[in-house]
Amino acid sequence: MSDVTIKQLAQVLGMPVDKLLTQLGEAGMKFSDQEQVISSTEKVKLLGFLRRTHGKGEAAAEAADAAPRQITLRRRTVGELKVAGSGGRGAAGPAKTVNVEVRARRTYVKRSVIAEEASAEPEREEAVRKLQESQQQREREERERLDSEQRRAQDARQREIDEQQRQEEAQRAEAAAEAKGVADAEAPAPEAPVDEMVAVDETTADESGVQRIDQRELGMILPRIHEPRKREKLVKPAAAPAPAPAPAPASTTTDAARGKARHAREREEVGNKHERDGSKRFAGGQMHLSEADRARRSSSSKRGKGGRSGGRDLLSRGSGVAGGTHGFSRPTAPVVREVVVSDTNVVADLAQKMAVKGSEVVKALFKMGVMATINQTVDHDTAVLVVEELGHTPIADTQNNAEETLAAHTQNAELEGEKVTRPPVVTIMGHVDHGKTSLLDYIRRTKVASGEAGGITQHIGAYHVKTSRGAITFLDTPGHAAFTSMRARGAQSTDIVILVVAADDGVKPQTIEAVKHARAANVPIIVAVNKMDKDGANPDNVKQGLVAQEVVPEDWGGDVQFVPVSAKTGMGIEELLDAISIQAEVMELKAVADGRASGVVIESSLDRGRGPVATVLVQQGTLRKGDFVVCGVEYGRMRALINQSGKQVDEAGPSIPVQVLGLSGVPETGDDFVCVEDERLAREVAQERELKRRETRMVSKSNRLEDIIAKMGQGDEQQTLNILVKGDVQGSVEALRESLTQIGNERVRVNVVSSGVGGINESDATLAAASKALVIGFNVRADASARKVIETNGLDVRYFSIIYDVIDQVTQAATGLLGMEVREDIIGIAEVRDVFRSSKFGAVAGCMVTEGHVKRSKPIRVLRDNVVVFEGELESLRRFKDLVDEVRSGMECGIAVKQYNDVKVGDQIECFERTEVARTL
Ligand code: GDP
Ligand code: MG
Repeated sequence: MSDVTIKQLAQVLGMPVDKLLTQLGEAGMKFSDQEQVISSTEKVKLLGFLRRTHGKGEAAAEAADAAPRQITLRRRTVGELKVAGSGGRGAAGPAKTVNVEVRARRTYVKRSVIAEEASAEPEREEAVRKLQESQQQREREERERLDSEQRRAQDARQREIDEQQRQEEAQRAEAAAEAKGVADAEAPAPEAPVDEMVAVDETTADESGVQRIDQRELGMILPRIHEPRKREKLVKPAAAPAPAPAPAPASTTTDAARGKARHAREREEVGNKHERDGSKRFAGGQMHLSEADRARRSSSSKRGKGGRSGGRDLLSRGSGVAGGTHGFSRPTAPVVREVVVSDTNVVADLAQKMAVKGSEVVKALFKMGVMATINQTVDHDTAVLVVEELGHTPIADTQNNAEETLAAHTQNAELEGEKVTRPPVVTIMGHVDHGKTSLLDYIRRTKVASGEAGGITQHIGAYHVKTSRGAITFLDTPGHAAFTSMRARGAQSTDIVILVVAADDGVKPQTIEAVKHARAANVPIIVAVNKMDKDGANPDNVKQGLVAQEVVPEDWGGDVQFVPVSAKTGMGIEELLDAISIQAEVMELKAVADGRASGVVIESSLDRGRGPVATVLVQQGTLRKGDFVVCGVEYGRMRALINQSGKQVDEAGPSIPVQVLGLSGVPETGDDFVCVEDERLAREVAQERELKRRETRMVSKSNRLEDIIAKMGQGDEQQTLNILVKGDVQGSVEALRESLTQIGNERVRVNVVSSGVGGINESDATLAAASKALVIGFNVRADASARKVIETNGLDVRYFSIIYDVIDQVTQAATGLLGMEVREDIIGIAEVRDVFRSSKFGAVAGCMVTEGHVKRSKPIRVLRDNVVVFEGELESLRRFKDLVDEVRSGMECGIAVKQYNDVKVGDQIECFERTEVARTL
């Protein structure tokens, strides 16, 4: 930075350029052009050379004189200071980065020079002093002129001065050397080692770098100090200002440790008094200085300057700056901020909005009797109080209307678009085994029932079917009582309910339930009297049973269509579809096909590879790939839309069900979804909802206390059976939860403590242990860490794959109908380490038995990510080449599974046995 060209140097030295070039050449530095830049090191080299060649044979004092009299070390550290944006405008602004440049300079002067100064030739002493004084004078002047706008210019000047000084030195040294004649001596003048030198002067961090920080910004990040005591003290420290307001920035440099050491040294030099002041420099770091204050501070610091002889000392430098427009200053009056208070407020956020420390808010809250840490939230009223307490103005949160924006969003879509006829959404309901799946199957001409565990539809599937009468969307709601809740949801997203009643069985409890749901949702019913092919079919019996439920057939003077059908023979199916079409026509079902989509979640689950997966039914508009959606408390961009046949599609219009990928989490069945313009709104709404949901959960938790009190009133008669439910899909879990809680009598009450999608993990097990709950895994298993907890706590964990069994077991247990039951016990688990293809057995899994033992005679299940993917038998069990009956834990084996070739590395093969045991709770 202080490089000059050779020409300039020659000018400064007052010698011809040619001579300088020659000298440089002799000194071993090749310069050919006078415009070339010569660096300071090269200059020093030249100087050393000249000394060696000219200044030899002199007395030791003179040799020392030729050596550098002083060395100036400089360091420039550039750091970044992150300034969190703060709530001037309500919401937190973006963080700002302020570059902080700290310049340190330390000059070492030889001890001998100081000694000399005491008793050396007055001439040189005079010269040196004059030089120093003139420089100090200049520096002082410079600093007085220092201004933020001129800072850069000043820096440049500073450099110039340094350069000049160095040049003067060089000149002086050379002149001295030349004056001493050309006598030669071999020994070169020793370079004075640094440790021989004493630091006689020092400049501290160059505050000018710090001054770039906007005062207003600092006002936001620096704590306001309220106590007037501190303020009084502040006046005095101003007389001896802090060494530098730089420590915080300095600590942000990568070289924090060294920075600290430097500051320690600085403080030592300045003295304890200053150190004390230094520790309070943040107290002095308040903003909003009045002009009077500024003047006072500045003048008082000038007074302080007189204490030191050198103009370059810390005090003058520090005060020079503090006296300028850039120092930290204290406020003339408390700053009253408008603080946006919303329904829930994180304490730390509140503190930031008021520009006070979090602990201050915590303290204020504490005084008000509210215990809250900075990470906790306080409600609106508390927040208003604490904001007022701290002297600020709370203002109502007007930005908390993401939900409204969203509502406006959808309304616009509904109002603007042109309405077109849409296909009806039909839900099939009815008692178990009355033929719902079979009926839908027949209509779709696919086999769904055979692929389902236990032949029961486990979760809502939605199918868009094109019939000769037009398109119809069927929601295949599960046919078991377990799916009450989902059925209720199905009915809400449904235009028409097909009530399937087996002609040979008549009206059953769940038939009546279905009627109630349809009624509640105000959805018209079409009764499909199924199994008409059967001998015992008695449609009149069905009619009578339904009339009792006020479902009156048309031919009996009512308004409900009854269609006799057979899912087996296909009889009456056309008539049923006709009936649906007629009903739909009467209802004049319309939707806006253009514009943003909205709809409802029919099913959701977490897929290992694809993440959260949800089946949604579009009700309005068109859902397109790449759309941003809010879905319950989740949001996301639609990565892919997959239709019922597993094909990727680009869009889905009204009444079309599609599986969507790309949500932030697994939404709940029945959640609505809405397309929004941008991700920001999507995220905002989702977060708002999440917050609300959490709040309501907290409220419902506190309500449990009332439950307890109510129970206490009942006496100790009734016992509570705690159950924890984990399942593979949200629908099943929800349904299980709903129906399990309905089980119970005067003696036992079932309480589902927790439910969720996915394998049973450690926290589930811990919760179950804490609440002494029965753990139910529906098509899911416990992971290794959970199994440990289960074992140590002796938890009762039961695995099911048929909802009916869950209800059955729990009901029987709860109602005291305990007897013998077939229980499954897992006797061993083998982990698939490798898969070999064998022409004889298909896929053979190279396994390691990790727990228990695997027996060839016992049934097995294949688990992937703790979810059951196959259930069956072993084809073969081998140790090396030999067929064996049993393989124990810790051993390797080859397993071939009968009729299953899809084993993958990482799968677990679970070997279990069925035993008859007495039922216990
Ligand atoms: P869901 O539980 O209501 O879904 O009933 P499913 O569709 O699983 O059917 C239960 C049983 O009834 C199955 O064994 C079907 O084969 C049988 N089934 C269904 N519809 C008919 C029918 O129209 N005629 C006869 N004979 N059997 C039927
Ligand atoms: Mg079914």
